[in-house]
Amino acid sequence: MNKILLTLLLLPITFTLSAQKDISMYKSYADIIEGEQRAHRGMLRFRGSGAGDNIDIDYMRSYWEVNPAVRYISGTIAYHFKALELLNEITLDLNQGMVVDSIVYHGTTVTSSRSNNQLHISLPGVLRVGDRDSIAITYHGVPDATGFGSFIQTTHGKDSIPIIWTLSEPYGASEWWPCKNSLTDKIDSMDVFINTHVRWTAASNGVMISDIGNPSGMDHTMHWKHRYPIAPYLVSLAVTRYEVFSDTLQSISGKMLPVQNFAYPERLADAMDGTSKVPDMIRFYEDTIAAYPFVSEKYGHAQFGWGGGMEHQTMTSVGGYNYGLLAHELAHQWFGDAVTCKSWRDIWLNESFATYMTALMERHAFGEKVFDNWLVSTNARVTNVPDGSVWVNDTTVVGRIFSGRLSYRKGAYVLHMLRWVLGDEAFFNGIKSYYKDNIGQYATTDDLRSHLEMAGDTSLRGFMDDWFYGQGFPSYEIVYQQADNNLFLTVNQTQSHPSVFFFEMPLPIKIYGEGQDTTVVLQNNYNHQDFHLPVSFQIDSIVFDPEHWILSRDNQVTLRINSLENGLYCRLSPNPAGQIVRLQTNLSLATIKDIRVWDIAGNPVFSPAPARWIDGVDISAWPVGTYLVELTKKDGRPFVMKLLKE
Ligand SMILES: [Zn+2]
Repeated sequence: MNKILLTLLLLPITFTLSAQKDISMYKSYADIIEGEQRAHRGMLRFRGSGAGDNIDIDYMRSYWEVNPAVRYISGTIAYHFKALELLNEITLDLNQGMVVDSIVYHGTTVTSSRSNNQLHISLPGVLRVGDRDSIAITYHGVPDATGFGSFIQTTHGKDSIPIIWTLSEPYGASEWWPCKNSLTDKIDSMDVFINTHVRWTAASNGVMISDIGNPSGMDHTMHWKHRYPIAPYLVSLAVTRYEVFSDTLQSISGKMLPVQNFAYPERLADAMDGTSKVPDMIRFYEDTIAAYPFVSEKYGHAQFGWGGGMEHQTMTSVGGYNYGLLAHELAHQWFGDAVTCKSWRDIWLNESFATYMTALMERHAFGEKVFDNWLVSTNARVTNVPDGSVWVNDTTVVGRIFSGRLSYRKGAYVLHMLRWVLGDEAFFNGIKSYYKDNIGQYATTDDLRSHLEMAGDTSLRGFMDDWFYGQGFPSYEIVYQQADNNLFLTVNQTQSHPSVFFFEMPLPIKIYGEGQDTTVVLQNNYNHQDFHLPVSFQIDSIVFDPEHWILSRDNQVTLRINSLENGLYCRLSPNPAGQIVRLQTNLSLATIKDIRVWDIAGNPVFSPAPARWIDGVDISAWPVGTYLVELTKKDGRPFVMKLLKE
């Protein structure tokens, strides 16, 4: 799938010197997202089938025969399971086009029926809650070829080498094997046997523990063993002519971890170059989160015919070897595979995490500037549209679930902001404990929230309501005025979408002047909030959020001006004043929006309506000192006058 043309159209227009690197990263990102959208397109047909809800699958043993030149599969799947309720029937998902040859239970054949892409198996007796049992299903057929399918037969290279690969997106798995197609039950352990001609190599999950030839010399069976829980959509196989090469690294767990790559022969140099970076990536993720989740087995890549990648557990499928692609799919081994989202509403637990981890990886590898560019471009793309939540409000639309703008980029920025709000230590501790407590399972956004709250000793309900469930983002206007050693700031906020009333956030502000700078953080809790800060130098300029912590757009920093347009005047008289002070101006009252007053400590002082200022305001009760009187025109910026009370 060549998606480069589309991708180039989406690129930001301006580039710096590091443009070449950035282009390749953005290109791969658009590819990743589009590929994953397509990968999951087939799932809705099977949404919530409920198949297998009365059993818990402990173990799967699959035996498959595959000829990569022929779109066809035959095999036997044995399941070991535990009854979750009193039952005498088991239902599995299996596409209607696949033919069931036999179902064997305790050595005898049992009956079954088919409907709605499901296989209903009748047991001769009753199982009670907690009973453990097993069953074997032998089947064959040509998997459905609808859409992008989940079982693809194609060719690669100028010699047209045949390949069969699977892309077992969550609910497409049952197009080619009988399974429990849901986000409710991981297969706790499995053995995969793939029989094929000796010319071909079969890649799958886990470790290959044997490769045994048939006495005829014509075919062989490769046995892959996987002893970690796995979601059905992450079970994969790929069969073609592969060049296999490996690397190893020492995991922080102390174990030696093989990185095993199955590359197209015609892409071997490419594959060796790209995957040579992967051990460093694993080390970085291990340092950031935890030991590689499947450390007793392997990590690997199997090349397939897709433009992007798919995070098959322990054996990512890749269409190429772009740095960003490899980093993204690798991050999914922690977030997506070891810990899997429990619902499509929470897909950000897979995709935003992989996106943010990749950005952190690129910062580690390429430096702060690359990370900053990522923040700026991600912010721009998210805020290009005023609405949309990270929470998936409509799971019937695949493009919404896998929205690049919301489920990948906005969610990644929300993680970045959680890091800002909590601080690095609490954020990473929270992420690590969320990961550790959910490994091998399915997780929800509430699981994540409670772990971050625990680590930060704070409530994140308000934050999540605004940034995860709510839509849109804020725009800020910072208005400032210096009076001697005092800095007065007013923070105004507008929201791009009415679902969020106000984004309560700590705001970083950097102040420059006299060759110095200082950064302050304003806890912004309501609109038109005033702040007063001591400052020891003459301010030249103020920059809002210089490190790009806050998702926002069209922010402005405005100096309160001390002069009006030509021909207009405005002054307080007398000044200094002890009792009555009047506003003298040639502005018409109708053009004045309001007049506000602060004392020198930045506290607002009650101020009468503009008309009263013309008549004269009695300030005799005001404490002696300096006041700032801010007049705002309806069509202009605020104008500030200093008033001395005697
Ligand atoms: Zn992904």
